[in-house]
Amino acid sequence: MSATIANDHLWLHFTRHAGLDPADIPVIVRGEGAYVWDADGKRYLDGLAGLFAVQVGHGRAELAEAAARQTGKLAYFPLWSHAHPTAIELAERLAAAAPGDLNRVFFTVSGGESVETAWKLAKQYFRLTGKPGKHKVISRSLAYHGTSQGALSITGIPAAKQDFEPLVPSTIRVPNTNFYRAPEHGDDEKAFGRWAADRIAQAIEFEGPDTVAAVFLEPVQNTGGCFVPPPGYFERVREICDTYDVLLVSDEVICAFGRLGHDFGAERYGYLPDMITTAKGLTSGYAPLGAVLIGDRLAEPFQHGDATFMHGSTYGGHPVSCAVALANLDLIEREGLLDHVRRTESVFKSTLDKLRDLPIVGDVRGAGFFYGIELVKDKETRETFTPEESERVLRGHVSAALFDAGLYCRADDRAEPVIQLAPPLICDRPQFEEMEQILRDALTSAWSLL
Ligand code: PLP
Repeated sequence: MSATIANDHLWLHFTRHAGLDPADIPVIVRGEGAYVWDADGKRYLDGLAGLFAVQVGHGRAELAEAAARQTGKLAYFPLWSHAHPTAIELAERLAAAAPGDLNRVFFTVSGGESVETAWKLAKQYFRLTGKPGKHKVISRSLAYHGTSQGALSITGIPAAKQDFEPLVPSTIRVPNTNFYRAPEHGDDEKAFGRWAADRIAQAIEFEGPDTVAAVFLEPVQNTGGCFVPPPGYFERVREICDTYDVLLVSDEVICAFGRLGHDFGAERYGYLPDMITTAKGLTSGYAPLGAVLIGDRLAEPFQHGDATFMHGSTYGGHPVSCAVALANLDLIEREGLLDHVRRTESVFKSTLDKLRDLPIVGDVRGAGFFYGIELVKDKETRETFTPEESERVLRGHVSAALFDAGLYCRADDRAEPVIQLAPPLICDRPQFEEMEQILRDALTSAWSLL
């Protein structure tokens, strides 16, 4: 499998191709458990579960067999005015697992499409219920919600958007919950949470409550490095959403299916959203599938007269993907992976916390099997890197050093530089220690370059 051909014909996602040495393009050919192998036979610990997806680990024959069985029986049929058994069964299963009355499922193909779907549904819901002006969306600074033009408009990363403006209008950003970068709140996380949640109320007031349809929030925000919600944050957000009749959408494309030790992240933090958007871990990445979970109140106006949600896609709820999802949920249940994450997350966290003795490690934060390690130039002042240092040390050294040492994870400098870890949920102490050791070596050598 030639990396040269990859460079000639295959356009990699989010990748700077100029100056890319074809020999530097890793070609991953095989996976088993928590590990993947490249074309040269070198092994890597998959510290990112592919891309926050492979909950049950690689190479699980049961999922391949479920796909093969379904392909032999009914390889494809759409959900346009028809149903098929695996979609029916999966919808029922998700409805049973979801919090509160989220008991209707609209299938998509990806996380971004789930976000698009939820925004369109929110708009039409308000049209059907006599509030047609409510169409805007509030989301948080740096939050990633997808790349299609609607989802990208909701995304809060300016660098990901600037070349595609004008995007879909009507999205507004509020602060995220980066407590490490909120020194004015001292160590009062609760007050910080209240402040951050109240920014949503303020944005609704500024825009006009009659114009705002929804707030999109991740339970734990990925971009920026695993910003967990401060105590009381979601309780206050729910209150604000109820006050202004604004829908709360929990974007759980990463945080569902065990990533935080629960079926859904909303359960962990004790809030009830109006919709959940999800994808990735639903099939452990073995087949593309996304889903939007919708509560009774939102579904109700679509049950009368000629109301139709004019939305869908050819492959949304693909029978093979749904069969894989069912087998994946069986595996998660049979192997007790939610319980495993809840039991071992403190071991994972405390293993990563050991890195705090390094001068370059400013913060280690996250929950479940989902952590971000923020790198700093000065621990005391929390000073971050200049763009030149970030380019030289993070992009030029850390990413390569980690990969060379056999750890696949992500060094992300879209905000302050962080290393993101979200391994398969089957990982345990040996993998946590392997990650810590490889990170320790790479970050120690990075420090010497500063
Ligand atoms: N929403 C969140 C929170 C995500 O993390 C992602 C992708 O990582 C998306 C949406 C987009 O999902 P996809 O890449 O499947 O379109």
